Amino acid sequence: MNSDFDLLIVGGGLVGGSLALAMRDIPLRVGIVEALTEAERQASTAGDRALALARGTVQILDRLGIWQDVSAKAMPIRHIHVSDRGRFGKTRLHADEKGVDALGHVVVARTLEDRISQELHKLDAELICPARVIGLKAGQNGVCVTLKKGEECLNFTATLVVAADGGNSTVRKLLGIQQSVRDYGQTAIVTEVSTQADVNFTAYERFTTAGPLALLPLERRKCSVVWTMKDQDAEEVLSESDANFTASLQSAFGHWLGKIRLAARRQGFPLKLVQAEKMADDRVLLIGNAMHQLHPVAGQGFNLGLRDAAFLAERLSTKLAFREDIGEKAFLDRYVRARQRDLANTIHFTDGLIRVFCTDFPPLALARNAAMIALDCFPPAKRLLARHAMGYGFRL
Ligand SMILES: Cc1cc2nc3c(=O)[nH]c(=O)nc-3n(C[C@H](O)[C@H](O)[C@H](O)COP(=O)(O)OP(=O)(O)OC[C@H]3O[C@@H](n4cnc5c(N)ncnc54)[C@H](O)[C@@H]3O)c2cc1C
Repeated sequence: MNSDFDLLIVGGGLVGGSLALAMRDIPLRVGIVEALTEAERQASTAGDRALALARGTVQILDRLGIWQDVSAKAMPIRHIHVSDRGRFGKTRLHADEKGVDALGHVVVARTLEDRISQELHKLDAELICPARVIGLKAGQNGVCVTLKKGEECLNFTATLVVAADGGNSTVRKLLGIQQSVRDYGQTAIVTEVSTQADVNFTAYERFTTAGPLALLPLERRKCSVVWTMKDQDAEEVLSESDANFTASLQSAFGHWLGKIRLAARRQGFPLKLVQAEKMADDRVLLIGNAMHQLHPVAGQGFNLGLRDAAFLAERLSTKLAFREDIGEKAFLDRYVRARQRDLANTIHFTDGLIRVFCTDFPPLALARNAAMIALDCFPPAKRLLARHAMGYGFRL
């Protein structure tokens, strides 16, 4: 089949957009299909979430040529402070002890999306937007994709389709790929607070009886809050008045940063671990949230998805050097095998954190406390935690 595209990326969000940028210098005919207009994306409140970016992620974004601009609006994390409400244990990690200037960075998702979107418009690749994939049929030599663009239906062919169309992936559904879902019965409440004291480049992770509470530095006196709790508690907390919510938050977090004030509205995100049952089908690969949706408590979802994209681009450039079929099964199988370990490790790490830290069960609560004290006193364990925090724990 003489395809319209060598590579068609469905979804021009954080992960699909990054893949398109990573393909910039690779001589393939690339198409990107994105459902949302700029105005719709800007209006979506999902862009308000803060993303903790691992060091490895920052290095990839730098290679994509977008980090310099994004870094002006990002906050470096120079210290990580982990504590347990009502207990003594606490662990501190410091960038200078690791010989680095930052353990990671925090950026509002929209800042990164904006920068990726600007670059997408400059690419030679064809950006088909706004358009949605509504049909997909894989044949021996290529995939036929049907798009809905306004009132029109368009048909394209591609040698390889990459689904980066998020957690509700249409491509995955059209292929009939099932998902395994672990519902944690928890909701992450996301908001922002201003603080009396200088945040001093510190990310706080505090284990409260309601659930883990993260305060990530956004500005000198402003933090993004992700507070995870049981669904029914979250429902109540979300319906509280601002004053009552602030009081609950202050009491759960303590006074590490003095008096806190609510600085944005509250949003609830139900937490699930969702995994597609396969990463590849005939001439189709699933990456980013289309493949895996993780609990935000460990801030790994985008970091993992970006590694999918960077690794795929690297493999595609190698494949191209040999002028081979980029959609053939053997190539996709090799990609899947190579990504499996990173995916499994990241999921185990995130899942393990939830199991150990989202518990009121006293022996476990004591154990985590002891673990934190031990971590603070035992440099090798701390180094391991720092490697995970910096995104080096699961290197390919
Ligand atoms: C509260 C919260 C906090 C988080 N914190 C962190 C963190 O600290 N660190 C971290 O690494 N991750 C974090 N994450 C996870 C991170 O947000 C996701 O992993 C990331 O957004 C996944 O990017 P994606 O491009 O795969 O999917 P998405 O961001 O969902 O993008 C999918 C894109 O596909 C488009 N699309 C959808 N359907 C179609 C279609 N049919 N046709 C064409 N286009 C389509 C959409 O418009 C969108 O642009 C957090 C998530 C939440 C909810």
